[in-house]
Amino acid sequence: MTTVGILGGGQLARMLALSGAPLGLRFLVMDNVADACAGQFAPMVVGDYRDEATLAEFASRVDVATFDFENVPAESAQWLSERVPVFPNPGALATAQDRLAEKTLFRELNIPVPPFAAIDTREQLDAALAEIGTPCILKTRRLGYDGKGQFRIKTPADAGAAWDALGAQASKVGLILEGFVHFQRELSVVAVRGRDGEFRAWPLTENWHVDGVLSASLAPAVVDSALGEIAYDYARRLAESIDYVGVFALELFCRDGELLANELAPRVHNSGHWTIEGSETSQFQNHLRAVLGLPLGDTRMVGRACMLNWIGEMPDALPMLREPGGHWHDYGKQPREGRKVGHATLRADSAEALSASLERVGEALGRQAQVAPVIAALR
Ligand code: AMP
Repeated sequence: MTTVGILGGGQLARMLALSGAPLGLRFLVMDNVADACAGQFAPMVVGDYRDEATLAEFASRVDVATFDFENVPAESAQWLSERVPVFPNPGALATAQDRLAEKTLFRELNIPVPPFAAIDTREQLDAALAEIGTPCILKTRRLGYDGKGQFRIKTPADAGAAWDALGAQASKVGLILEGFVHFQRELSVVAVRGRDGEFRAWPLTENWHVDGVLSASLAPAVVDSALGEIAYDYARRLAESIDYVGVFALELFCRDGELLANELAPRVHNSGHWTIEGSETSQFQNHLRAVLGLPLGDTRMVGRACMLNWIGEMPDALPMLREPGGHWHDYGKQPREGRKVGHATLRADSAEALSASLERVGEALGRQAQVAPVIAALR
């Protein structure tokens, strides 16, 4: 009996556990809150990620460990990796935790990125602003997610406000200034690399965000197929360079037919949830296969799929359940503003059928604004 340990007990851990059940796997989840939603399906160890006693108990009960969120302290990942196999490796996790380290790596690998500069002081901000120009975005290097820890600088006059908002973070987590990309689309490639180096990727996905949080994803993205090959190549080179094992997402901006890398998410990713029903093998199943050294499953798509995120509260399930390709995922979380509480995936064999389904669901739930950009992309 193999037990997979997961650091972090949110919906990603929950979906990993659900996906691993048919493989006969057991799971143990560690989280710092007792009501983490993966705990509804897997035993939990509750404690601070930095607490050695909790980590030691976790390590003693698992055969292999992985993550459901990237902000596990790097020292804790390192400590664990000296006791049990940990995938992705702590070095890869550390790179992905730091926007400066990941952008530097992208650049080294000749993966295009917006201009960027490390910022530790107000003087450096002024110097970088002169160099990069406006508009641009000041971000925390670490611990930012879903658009948090960011300040958009529209004109040089905003520099003071940006420093007031984030300057205090400079000495704690570091800052990075990035040139603003006037992109037409946001895309992601979700990919997986096995312990033996086998590499696969799912088709490019287009993503729409509201207030910095993913709202909808469409796969395959309706783009020139050459872009899919470029994204595949970037993801493969990236994974090889840091000996990455498991699933990850590379978030990309598409500007005038060119792809620029935004960030590397070192885990199963929200833009890959559609793979549960829309692909031969889901990202969750393939992540488990990768960390266990099992053969990877095919990442082929079955038709087209759109994922809609439910933020704050769950809508009525019935309109989605009535759709021929409608699939419902309630994470069993308490509703709270801004919280990802569930998602739904619509799968269909053609763009027309997917659009028609989206129109019906959008109308029935009063969520026309959420489905509209996806329908427009499918036209
Ligand atoms: P991030 O946390 O880096 O994924 O940023 C959250 C969202 O902010 C992204 O999905 C983009 O919509 C936007 N964003 C981040 N960085 C940039 C950038 N350099 N240029 C334009 N938009 C950006």
